[in-house]
Amino acid sequence: MKKVVIVVPAYNESESLDAFYNSYSRFNQDNRGFDFNLLFVNDGSCDDTLDQLRELSLKDQSIKYLSFSRNFGHQAALRAGLENSVTLDPDCVVSMDADLQHPFEVILEFLGKWESGAEIVYSVRKDSKDCSGFKRLTSKGFYKVLNILGEVEIDEGCADFRLLDIKVVNKVLEFKEADLFFRGLVPFIGFKQESVEYQPHKREFGQTKYTLSKMFKLAVTGITSFSVKPLYISILLGIMASVSAFLYLIYSLVAKFYWEQTVSGWTSIIISVLFIGGVQLVVLGIIGIYIGKIFNEVKNRPHYLVSEDNLNS
Ligand code: UDP
Ligand code: MG
Repeated sequence: MKKVVIVVPAYNESESLDAFYNSYSRFNQDNRGFDFNLLFVNDGSCDDTLDQLRELSLKDQSIKYLSFSRNFGHQAALRAGLENSVTLDPDCVVSMDADLQHPFEVILEFLGKWESGAEIVYSVRKDSKDCSGFKRLTSKGFYKVLNILGEVEIDEGCADFRLLDIKVVNKVLEFKEADLFFRGLVPFIGFKQESVEYQPHKREFGQTKYTLSKMFKLAVTGITSFSVKPLYISILLGIMASVSAFLYLIYSLVAKFYWEQTVSGWTSIIISVLFIGGVQLVVLGIIGIYIGKIFNEVKNRPHYLVSEDNLNS
């Protein structure tokens, strides 16, 4: 029987967990010849997610969990899930959210494609009418910017809901970088890939754990992990600012020596000072982000800390 480990990052999901487990049990009743195992990664939740995981794992042998010492973020939780899934010796690993937005039935489609030869099966979200307008807009904008600035093409609406063959999992784990961005990494690594379209459910319990600041951080990581284009764009901005400053210099010299209009012009001076100042700050910020990334990499710290798990029980 093929063994499938389902990795589920969970951050403050205590409201969803019971419903998630019920849904999983229903799905698992007719396991269609697969040995399904859940591996939860508690990403430093402050609610009783961890207590619930302890209880569930006592009730059901197929449930494993590990718990972070604090909130390390969704991508770190995914990495931890993949790294630790290997100890369970699976044939393939599926990752999905804990909030029931990713339907279990879609996993059967993943498995179908996997059995007919695909090594990576990723999901593409159909436009969800249930998402808030704001979320849809930011998500659309995110993928647009990512595809313009990034160097790998990422399907719009591709979430971290996918199946990886164990061979691919082992390859993915060779990427040791601090800021892993799985949505970019998956198109980057190649292999035989197929996609499945699905309609996400509405989040019924709790709220999205992707706050605006987390989304912003993910967007910056997504862009800067796979591309140095922003650095080129900053050079371009710098050149544009210098050219306009040079043109303005000529204008001001002409104004001084021929038109003798040197007193007025406060507006144009303040505009150019602000413009150049703004461009410099943007460029410095972009360079700063990359230096920050180098700083993170050279420290070579662990990507997450596990305070508790039941992997060996
Ligand atoms: N999540 C996590 N750590 C975080 C934020 C989110 O492990 O810091 C988990 C969360 O519990 C969920 C998944 O990542 O299982 C996706 O988060 P969410 O559903 O809140 O994002 P959305 O679907 O709104 O983009
Ligand atoms: Mg969600």
